[in-house]
Order: sequence, then C-alpha cells, then structure tokens
Amino acid sequence: MNELFKQIPQVSKLLEDPQIAAFLDVFFQQEIKTEIEKSLKYFRKQIKNKMLTKLAYRDVVKNIVNRLKTKNKYSLRKVINGTGTIVHTNLGRSLLSDTCLEHVVNVCSSYNNLEYNLEYGCRGSRYEHVEEMMASIVGSESCLIVNNNAAATMLCVAEVAANKEVVVSRGELVEIGGSFRIPEIIELSGAILKEVGTTNRTHLRDYELATNDNTAMYLKVHPSNYTIQGFTKNVSNEDITTLAFKMNGNRSDKIITMEDIGSGVLIDLSAKGLKEKTVQESLSSGIDLVTFSGDKLLGGPQAGVIVGKRYLIEKIKRHPLVRALRVGKMTIAALEATLREYFDEKNAIESIPTLKMIYKTEESLYNEAKTLSDKINNLGKISSEVIKLDSTVGGGALPLSQLPSYGVSIAYANLSVEKIETILRKNQTPIIGRIFNNQYVLDVRTLCGEDIDIIVNALCRLGER
Ligand SMILES: *Cc1c(COP(=O)(O)O)cnc(C)c1O
Repeated sequence: MNELFKQIPQVSKLLEDPQIAAFLDVFFQQEIKTEIEKSLKYFRKQIKNKMLTKLAYRDVVKNIVNRLKTKNKYSLRKVINGTGTIVHTNLGRSLLSDTCLEHVVNVCSSYNNLEYNLEYGCRGSRYEHVEEMMASIVGSESCLIVNNNAAATMLCVAEVAANKEVVVSRGELVEIGGSFRIPEIIELSGAILKEVGTTNRTHLRDYELATNDNTAMYLKVHPSNYTIQGFTKNVSNEDITTLAFKMNGNRSDKIITMEDIGSGVLIDLSAKGLKEKTVQESLSSGIDLVTFSGDKLLGGPQAGVIVGKRYLIEKIKRHPLVRALRVGKMTIAALEATLREYFDEKNAIESIPTLKMIYKTEESLYNEAKTLSDKINNLGKISSEVIKLDSTVGGGALPLSQLPSYGVSIAYANLSVEKIETILRKNQTPIIGRIFNNQYVLDVRTLCGEDIDIIVNALCRLGER
C-alpha cells in the first residue's frame, strides 16, 4: 500500500502535464488544481480501501481530464425546463424579458441614481424608483419592496404585532417549499400565533372569540400549494375587515388586517381558466396590508412587495429590519422594467415570459411539439411522439389548476426512462424533463428561445452512444 501511495503524482507535475495544462484556456489554474486535488483524494481512498493494485500515471491524468471535460465554468447556469411547470422554484421561478435584462445591464454596468435625487442634486431613496409605479398599478396608497415575500410578511408582522397576538385560521398555517412556514415566521417576528378554527372549517365567530386586548392582527394566508376540499368553510377578506372594523370601535391600538397572497397576480387570468385572486381584488376588500412575491406570477425578479395603507407602510419603513431586507440595484432595475409592461395589459401578456407561457395557445403548443418531435424522429434511432398533457403554473400558485398543453415523448433503443432522464440532466446545458405515464416527456410550454435546437443536439449525441 505504501508503495502505491508513493506513486501518486505530485500536484505540480500534473499541472504541467500537457493534457491537463490545455485546460488553462478555459479555467484558472486554481480551478484546475482543485480538480487535481479531488482526483488525488479519490485515488488515495481507492488505495486505502485496497481497491487498487497498481497506479499508472496515465490513469491519474485520464481521471483528471475527464473531470475537467465535464466541469462547468459556472455552478449556477442555464437549464432547459421541460417540466411544464411555469414558475418552478427549483429552476429559478420567473424568467426575465430581454427588455428587462437590457435595463439591468444598462443600469448596473454604469453608475446610476440608485440613491441620488437628480432633480435636486441630493441624496435620494432607492425605493422611489418602483414604489409609486407599483402602488399605482395595483391601486394602493403606498408600497415597500424588500428581498422576498417571506421578508415582506415577517417585516409586517414584526412592525404591527411584536409581543402581541396574530390570529390565523388553522386551514391557513401554510408551509411553502424552502422552509417558509407561517408559524415560524410569526414566531421570528416576535409575535404570538393564535390559531383558530379547524383544518377544514373556520368561521368568523372563531376570529371574534379569539380576539382580546392583546390581539394585533388578523392574518389571512393564501394556501398556495394545497387545497382543502369537501366540507370546508373559509372566512372572506370582506368578513375579516368588517369584523376588524367592529372590534376596533373602542380600541386605542387597532387590529390590523393583512393578507399574504403569495403569488402576486396583477391581471385577471380567468380567460385561461385560472382563478387566482389579483392583488387589486385583495386590496379592494379593504384589507390593510397585502404581501406577495415579485418572481411568481408577477413575472419579475425575486422580491417581496408590501402594499396597502400608507400610514402602516410609513411605520413599517422605519423598522430596523428594513435595512437588512433591502433590495439591490439589479432587483430594482428588473422590477421597474417588468412593472412598466403592466401599463398595457396586452403588452404585459406578450412581453413578460411567465405570462407569455401561460397564454400560449393550444395550437401553438401543438405546432411547437410537432416541430420538436419531427426533428427528433429525423435523427433516426430515437423515437418521439407528440402527446397531450397538462402544464401547471407552479411556484405556490394555483396548486390544482392545470393548463392543457403538448409535449414530446422520447424513447431510445433499450434505454430506461430513468437513464434517459439522467443523460439529459447531465447534458452540457442540462435538460430537465418529466416522467409521465412511464414515458420520458418534455412539455413544450416552458421551452423558449433556442431550447429546441439544444435538445435536438443533445439527443443527436444520445444516438451516438
Ligand atoms: C411563495 C409564498 C411565500 C414565499 O414567498 P418568497 O417570495 O419565496 O419568499 C409566502 N407566502 C405564500 C402564500 C407563498 O405562496
């Protein structure tokens, strides 16, 4: 064993090996060194476990070259979403439009007026760039933008209800993927959760009976990723605000009503069969504060939006947490460019990728699937069919709503569905598909740009294996 250990080549020697040094065109020496060290660690382990009887220099080089060949410059990179889930939290949620990205690049590649008032030549506020526009689009008195919806919700509860009680229906104690849990957010905000009702039924009187001198907030939460069906009862925003008004009659510190609507839809999607409450509708029910995400159905960058009553938002803006949760210039630029599109609804549908995908017609989806399937079949060997399936909106929005769509199935010789999935996932540009009826499928609704060509290219090489 000791002999084998002694045969492990020196890192410095490997760095100079022509086959390895060739990668200096692509990677920094430090990156190559890291791969060499990983490789040597692997061989050391092999030796230790008595898995090797001899160690040839060229085997070590080969191992390193293989690592470098499959290594990517970046860890965070483009993937192709063939899952049909439009707002896919694991795949980065909403895509940004070209106009939006142009604005981000323009603002961020130069100095900008992030916190500079150009009219008066003095210090300005980063929030001014988008908040007025957001407020005017959704019909709110005021607005505050923070890092994400979790931050928005936490901040509101912290300002309004620290050391006081927040009443929430047991049917709305939501957990969203990525560890956003309403009970924990309330606790973190320093407030006390007062659960009311049951999982399936909560009545207005439950809120009323739970109200005491220490009650600071009635919080409604959109059950984004589940539905409760059957014998159910939920209290409407209107009833909640009416109750708050009644209870506030002779109180000095008023009970605040708030709704975390999660998704932040700004336009009516019912034409596509999607019944999601818009931000405007939530506000017009008289609720004091509404929070939502910037990168779900709104179709912008990751952000959290607080809209509602001006006097409350002014107070929230002075909370020390705001500084910790603030957004950067890239977010502000992307949000401003995305929001502008909403001044004309038709334009928003055509230019915001998330909305564009929702509005793809069945005819165009079929044509796209047919084009892809024909191109795949033309490769020979690989067989593909157009199939009908359903896309989902995703991202904790409209859990059960599905959009009729088309996709292509992909089958190759005797490769298992799982094997095809793995090979495509490990493609240079990873392709993420879906397994449906025991077939590997790609839903074309979430494909864009040159995705079809990349898929065909990847499959072309699958045929060569
Ligand atoms: C998605 C969601 C959140 C979390 O939003 P982030 O922007 O991811 O922080 C919170 N509440 C609801 C109801 C949601 O759907």
